[in-house]
Amino acid sequence: MNKPDKGKLEIKLDECKGCGLCVAACPVKVIEIRPDLINVQGYHPASYKGSGCTACGTCFYTCPEPGAITIYRLVPSH
Ligand code: SF4
Ligand code: SF4
Repeated sequence: MNKPDKGKLEIKLDECKGCGLCVAACPVKVIEIRPDLINVQGYHPASYKGSGCTACGTCFYTCPEPGAITIYRLVPSH
């Protein structure tokens, strides 16, 4: 059985400038730049791969765009 995720990441695609800092900073490498998407600012945005986030907060503190990244800490289910 897989370990349950501790966190969940939301990136507001239209706020992201596609700088890639969060991608490089994430210790578990669960963020990717999406070359298949272009946002309203004309950038390829970053997005969460969908699982594996530990809610460490590194991407949030690394991102230069206020409000682009929201991290949710998931409460373990019993
Ligand atoms: S909170 Fe940590 S583990 Fe989760 S996506 Fe951001 S850097 Fe990666
Ligand atoms: S650090 Fe912020 S602006 Fe840069 S790619 Fe990640 S979410 Fe986008």
